[in-house]
Amino acid sequence: MILAVLSGKGGAGKTFVSVNLAVTAGRATYIDCDVEEPNGRLFLKPKDIKEKPVSSRIPEFDPEKCSECRKCVDFCQFNALVYVGDRPVVFPEVCHSCGGCAIVCPSGAVKETERQVGTVETGWRGDVRVVTGILNPGEASAVPVIKSALKTGCAAEELTVLDCPPGSGCSVLESVSSADYCILVVEPTAFGLHNFQMVAELVWLMKKPWGVVINREDGAYPPLEEFCTQNAIPILGRIPYSKKLAGLCAAGQIACTSDEETGHLFARLLYAVREEAET
Ligand code: SF4
Ligand code: SF4
Repeated sequence: MILAVLSGKGGAGKTFVSVNLAVTAGRATYIDCDVEEPNGRLFLKPKDIKEKPVSSRIPEFDPEKCSECRKCVDFCQFNALVYVGDRPVVFPEVCHSCGGCAIVCPSGAVKETERQVGTVETGWRGDVRVVTGILNPGEASAVPVIKSALKTGCAAEELTVLDCPPGSGCSVLESVSSADYCILVVEPTAFGLHNFQMVAELVWLMKKPWGVVINREDGAYPPLEEFCTQNAIPILGRIPYSKKLAGLCAAGQIACTSDEETGHLFARLLYAVREEAET
């Protein structure tokens, strides 16, 4: 089963939930798809790491063949091409590797070359396989690294936990596309609810089954409870606001193994997720 853990904004507790679910499961794969800020490895501290480069294809222009028609520049929807002097020039960090400029070129002047945009690391923490996508700084598109991390880590026969990027952009879509079930992590605040509703729209659009984990709960927040009730959204678990948990996270500790009460909480959460996902 592939579980995608999402949140509307960074810092809601998505990595905390993902890491602790994977460790609670025992034998599992954790994939960090939040490739711009992959923090899961700070908690899991994987060993025996192997690295794999991730590349994208970018255009290269042959001045001998170029007829200076500018069709490639006009075609590029990502503004990755400009015409300088008598030839097109590409901004590699902005290119989305769509291949369109090579297709529209009437002179065969465009060929594609490989360029490294990131890395996928694979290591182990006990029986948990830890796959981490890492996007090179300054790159515009996280999608190639996410695709490579998913291809490396997703295995149907075991529990796979995807720690998705925050928000509801195309990198989140890519991460969630292969998931069997989604967990939305939300803080019980007005800001948290607003961002949570945007991600809820996304999982509804993608027709994925899903439920909610309320993080840092310090008393009920009625608007969130009402939203879940009105839309028949299951609340899978509630993680209390706790200085002890905050301290464990700040120290890079895995809470479910460091604190017995939290260990029970995540065991119940994993059970609830499996029950919901299998019905
Ligand atoms: S491959 Fe696509 S995004 Fe990149 S420069 Fe060509 S048209 Fe633009
Ligand atoms: S489309 Fe081809 S021929 Fe036209 S400017 Fe671009 S590279 Fe040159």
